[in-house]
Amino acid sequence: MKNLAKKSTALLLALIMAFSLAACSVKPGAGEGSTAGSTSGEAVTSQTTDDGNAGDQGEPGEEPAEEPKDEPGSGSGEEPRGPGEEAEEIGTGTGIAGVDPATWIDSDVQEWARLTSETSPQDDFYLHVNRDWMLSTKIPDGYSSYDPITEWAIEVDSQLLDVLQNPEKETDEALIHDQELVQKYYNMWLNWDDRNALGIEPLKKLLDPLFKVQTLDDLTAYLSRPETAISATELLTCDVGVDWNNADYYAVYVMPIDLIFGDSMYYGMMTEADAMAEPYYDEVIRHILVELGFTDSEATDILKGCFAFEQDIAKYIMTTEEASDRNAIVKENNPRTMEQLEAEAGDFPIRAMIAAYGGDGSDSYILTQPDWLAAMDVLYDESNVENLKDYLICYTAQDYATLLDRGCYDIYYKVINGISGAVGTKSDEKSASDAVNTFLPMQIGHLYADRYVTDETKEEVTGIVREIMAEYRNMLSEETFLSEATRKEAINKLDHLQLRIAKPDKWEDDSGLDFAGSEEGGNLFTAQDEVGAYWVQRMRSRVNQKVDRDIWTSRVQQVNAFYDPSQNAITICGGILGGELYNPGMSREELFANVGDTIAHEISHAFDTTGCQFDEKGNFRNWWTEEDQAAFAKRADKLSAYYDQIEPFQDTYCVGSQIEGEAIADLVAMKILLRIAAKEEEFDYDKFFRNFAETWRTITTLRSEYYSLSQDTHPLPYLRVNVVVQQFQEFYDTYNVTMWDAMYLAPQDRLEVW
Ligand SMILES: [Zn+2]
Repeated sequence: MKNLAKKSTALLLALIMAFSLAACSVKPGAGEGSTAGSTSGEAVTSQTTDDGNAGDQGEPGEEPAEEPKDEPGSGSGEEPRGPGEEAEEIGTGTGIAGVDPATWIDSDVQEWARLTSETSPQDDFYLHVNRDWMLSTKIPDGYSSYDPITEWAIEVDSQLLDVLQNPEKETDEALIHDQELVQKYYNMWLNWDDRNALGIEPLKKLLDPLFKVQTLDDLTAYLSRPETAISATELLTCDVGVDWNNADYYAVYVMPIDLIFGDSMYYGMMTEADAMAEPYYDEVIRHILVELGFTDSEATDILKGCFAFEQDIAKYIMTTEEASDRNAIVKENNPRTMEQLEAEAGDFPIRAMIAAYGGDGSDSYILTQPDWLAAMDVLYDESNVENLKDYLICYTAQDYATLLDRGCYDIYYKVINGISGAVGTKSDEKSASDAVNTFLPMQIGHLYADRYVTDETKEEVTGIVREIMAEYRNMLSEETFLSEATRKEAINKLDHLQLRIAKPDKWEDDSGLDFAGSEEGGNLFTAQDEVGAYWVQRMRSRVNQKVDRDIWTSRVQQVNAFYDPSQNAITICGGILGGELYNPGMSREELFANVGDTIAHEISHAFDTTGCQFDEKGNFRNWWTEEDQAAFAKRADKLSAYYDQIEPFQDTYCVGSQIEGEAIADLVAMKILLRIAAKEEEFDYDKFFRNFAETWRTITTLRSEYYSLSQDTHPLPYLRVNVVVQQFQEFYDTYNVTMWDAMYLAPQDRLEVW
């Protein structure tokens, strides 16, 4: 990464990541439930990568992060430096031809937007369109950024709460079952009497076998138990997903652990003292450890041991930037047999751990990070038992922080608010709804879809998708840099694109999923065990089986959209099809600027620098001639280099390679929309471009923006407007942009990937 952040900033970001990781922490297999086969769809919105996994492109079984419920806000400490002091320059075009785009102020940052004066469409289109809104809108309590997606996500949240608080009488058998499950969990979550009565006991019981571990053999026995994989933290991540090398079948993916501070990059910058000073580490985890019966100094030792192991292993885990690189899948696609895995793992009991997850007996294993496994071979050693144990204790403890008694819960939110600068707390009902959404995502999603996503919406939006695909086909047919052979493959891929629009036609049969509610003597922990065991069983049932492509891997209720390269499928979730983003009365211009752009963006991921490495079925297969591939790479390089020179914060530049895929999708989406517009009868370009800029309007805290710059795979919102529109002649014609304007780019400098 160029312009490495100053250490204080890195720590700040680490905190933010710790916060966001913890915010969605329930045991992975259980919480996600549904993600098999996803090669990580990619979020259309830049606001959707707040869980610290912004770089997870290509990792199987990972669904993109939740919407930002309450991302980081302001707090104390040193601020990243920006052009805030330079008010006199802000918002004024410098009038120099070929002006560096870095002269645009990053007006997403509310403090900086406030310092601007009015500007013209020719100098800063994004600011020109959105300035009044930026100055008159406040970031809501509990949030650190605000935009139309967040605005609508708040509405969807209240719809989900309504599903829980005002259950309808269902008649469909599957929905009746879903209703029972979500009600049980929702009520159990809100049952503070029970939770307080149980106190720390359930966690103690869960961790007791780990406390007894003394030797490496003990640890091996502990990690090999099915109960550990189901309910506690393991020393690897294992999931079943669509096989990159044979998209008709599932493979078992073997991946590194999660780190408490997220991006492995941070560990190279932090000392033990830094880590111990973090309130998340120091207050939340320490509080739970003391509740578990450790003295304060024992807790300190456990925290230090955990950090020591994380620091050792972080060196061998890909950073966000590495995982976002266009060559990431090449590096991650390492097919292995179980025997090979065992040989690489040494004493590290990889076979038993995979079996505990239900992944044994697979014909296909993919090891995403061989360096990590080689390091585990070394670190899994008698001399390291305490540190390994400490990591497992701390990680399991933080996973359950929000499911314990009121004391733990309140400390957790006090610390999180302190870190994020959020004001106010969520109501318990809202927190319970979020918990249901994490724990039973498909069940509440089914009920949500039944109540809020209409067949008409599905039909209409499908029609728009088909219209955009038809133009995409035209574009590919006319593409001049491609040979006939590659063009044929590209069109074939487009023709086979699988459409998942609004809500699925078919839902997975989860009639076997159940757990005891409060009345049957259950609690949040026993539910975790029962549901976790169900997901392990589900994983086992998929090993060596054919992929059912009718089953969705994304949750309907998400305010988001995805492309999954391993299935060559786009998903436009029902949750995003509302509010300003989509409504049936929209004009063509509004439609194009909102849902049309989203759809075209997702289709374009099939042909971005990562997507283009997968074929029409989702196999990781090179369908390019060597020459065409080189020509494509050259175009993408130019785009990446263009972003590299943009400097949103003083001395901190965009990282082109990290945002390349998303930036390509943005660019091609606009191209497709303008191609369709050209055929419309009286298309109002001004209205379209303004609507487009409005869709991306964002106000954010300085810190939240800095975090996005460092971790998000999407360009910052102001760039998603300004950089995109300045590549197209229609924009120049609509606003008479000339070489004297800041929005101007000379024709030979404009970007065109497709
Ligand atoms: Zn995207």
